[in-house]
Formats: sequence, C-alpha cells, structure tokens
Amino acid sequence: MSLDVAAHEEEVPLARPVLGAAEEAAVIEVLRSRQLSLGPRVPAFEQAFAARLGVAHACAVSSGTAGLHLALRAAGVRDGDEVVTSPFSFPASANAPLFERARPVFADIDPRTLNLDPAAAAAAVTDRTSALLPVHIFGYPADMPAFEALGLPIVEDACEALGAVHADGTAVGGRGHPSVFGFYANKQLTTGEGGMVTTSDAAVKAQIDSERNQGRAANMQWLDFDRLGFNYRLGDIACAIGLAQLDRLDDMLAGRARAAAGYRAALAGIEGLGLPCPDSGGDRRGWFVFVVQLPRGTDRDATIRALRERGVQSKPYLPAIHLMTYYRETFGHREGEFPVCEDVAARSVALPFFPELSEGQIERVAAALREVLGR
Ligand SMILES: *Cc1c(COP(=O)(O)O)cnc(C)c1O
Repeated sequence: MSLDVAAHEEEVPLARPVLGAAEEAAVIEVLRSRQLSLGPRVPAFEQAFAARLGVAHACAVSSGTAGLHLALRAAGVRDGDEVVTSPFSFPASANAPLFERARPVFADIDPRTLNLDPAAAAAAVTDRTSALLPVHIFGYPADMPAFEALGLPIVEDACEALGAVHADGTAVGGRGHPSVFGFYANKQLTTGEGGMVTTSDAAVKAQIDSERNQGRAANMQWLDFDRLGFNYRLGDIACAIGLAQLDRLDDMLAGRARAAAGYRAALAGIEGLGLPCPDSGGDRRGWFVFVVQLPRGTDRDATIRALRERGVQSKPYLPAIHLMTYYRETFGHREGEFPVCEDVAARSVALPFFPELSEGQIERVAAALREVLGR
C-alpha cells in the first residue's frame, strides 16, 4: 500500500538547481569555441561577480574548499599558526587551515544567528592566532564589525551567503577581506562544482591567480613558475554556466526568500520548533537552506525517517565539526566544549529548500512535519 503511494507521489527533494535554456546555450557556445580552459569566460565571470558584490577583484577557483585554502595562504596563515573559527559549519572551513599545518581553534556560536560569537572568538585568540575565519552560516551575515575590531587578518567563509547584505549596506563578501563563495549544486548559484574568492587587494588577486595555476608567473611567460602552486582552476564551461546563473540570480534569491516566507507561515505555532532567525538590525540573510531546530526531546533520526515515509527528504544539518571522528581522534575534542553549538547541532534538520519550491510542496512538508511531531 505505502509503496503504491510512494510510486505515485514524487518525493520533495532537499535541493534542486534552476537550470534552463540560457545555461544550455552557454555550455554549447563554449564547446563550439574549442576553448575549454584559461579562456575568456574566466575573467568575464570574475568581473561580473566582483561587480555584483561591489568589490574590486574576484578569482574563480575549482571549489569553495580550494578558495578557502588559497585565501588562507594569501592571508599569511603558516605552519603552526592558529585560526579561530566556528564549530558549526561545513567541515571545509575547519579543514582548510590544516592544509597549511595550521590549527583550527573553535569558539562557540551565537544562539540567535548561529554564527561564530565575536566575544567567544576574542577569548580564543592567542599569540599564535594568525587569522579569524568567520562563517556566514545559512546565509546570515556574521558580525564583521566586531571581528574587524580584533585587528587580525580575516578570511570570510561566505560559501552559503551569496546575496546576503550587512547592516551598513555592503554585500557579504564585499568588505575587502578575502571572502570565499562555493558553487556546488545546492548553493544560491551553481557551476556544478566551483568557487570564487573576492578581495579588494590587487596583490591577493595576483597571488591567488598564480597559486590556482601551479604558481605560474603573472605575465604568463612560457612556463615560468615562480612559486609553489596547485591546480585549483575553474574551466570555461563552468564559468559560462556561472555567467548565466548570475543573470538570473535576483530571481533565484527572490524564489528562496518566497519559499522561506512560506515555511515561516506554514510552520508557525508548532510548539518548541525553532525557526531560522528573522533579519535584525539591518542585516539581511541571503537564503540558502531552511533549517529548523526540533523541539527538545524529539528523536531526530526517527523524525527524518518518518518524513521520508511521507515523501519528504530532510537531513541532520549541520553536525558539530569538533565532534566528528577525525576531529575527536586528532585533537581530542569531546562533548561539552561548545554547548550552544552542540545543542543546536543535535536538533537541526534541513527541510527541502530551493527557488522553485511550490506552495503545494511547502504545505506537504509542513503537514508531514506537524503530523510526525504530533502537533
Ligand atoms: C559549500 C560550503 C563550502 C565549500 O564547499 P565546496 O564543496 O568545496 O565548494 C565551504 N564552507 C561552507 C560553510 C559551505 O557551505
């Protein structure tokens, strides 16, 4: 019986990119040009992206993770340094310092915004701290003025925050610190895989452009490599898709904001259920995911299974980084170190969320969640 129902009613997926004729045409045009790499779409995408954010430079890279690595190198993070960051993030932000044999030092998060708490971060700074790495989690702007007041180099993980705006009107990623975006298929803008580092500093732009391309000299002299580098390049097909996605970015962001407002209305009044914090003090979220905190005492795994039986995909999002096996075993982290993060991480569930999520799908998800929670 239930199998029949599942076969007739399509599951509501967690994420679904908006892709259409413009992206298809852009890909075909690159294929026909025969210039698949190091071609004109790379600087075109970089310039359009930088202009959109109101920042001087942007460097296209192969992923958000690659961008974090290069941005930390450009910020001067070296072997033995400490980088203060959030334990409530995707593991890439904590892993990136380790690529340079620096150590991620976690500090607890703010219970409202779920971003790194500036006071906790300040308390975690030592004389070995060479950078701060705040994460604009779930697209909500981190308190950059408070981090800037600490006087340390900053790299921003803006991978979830395209479209977010600070209270002073600057775009998240537009304040001049190396700021990293990711273009995986569930992000606000996708190139399949890919990323971008924005910066106001021409020297940072030059260093990242070189290091993403094996350390090749900026003047592109025939195979002169004047420093250590990587292959973190983004190809022309990806950049062409990115340009098409930038053209529709406002529509896609508006679609996500509409879906969020729909969820807020449909989920109102469920006792004990935590919803994403509304915008406050002039900061504006760039909607990325819709993550709810289940009422205390709810069995999360059972909730996720029950939602799936009702045709709704969901997942625990995000787990605390310091409690992941690698971090426990390598650094001896354990429960109790970051109580706010641990409480939030244990109750968080991401619901289906994408620009074209329909009113009907929102209703279905909300009805399923109400039923499963017994409210
Ligand atoms: C998506 C994401 C990244 C980067 O991911 P890639 O898959 O390497 O592009 C980094 N940090 C956060 C917080 C993310 O959500």
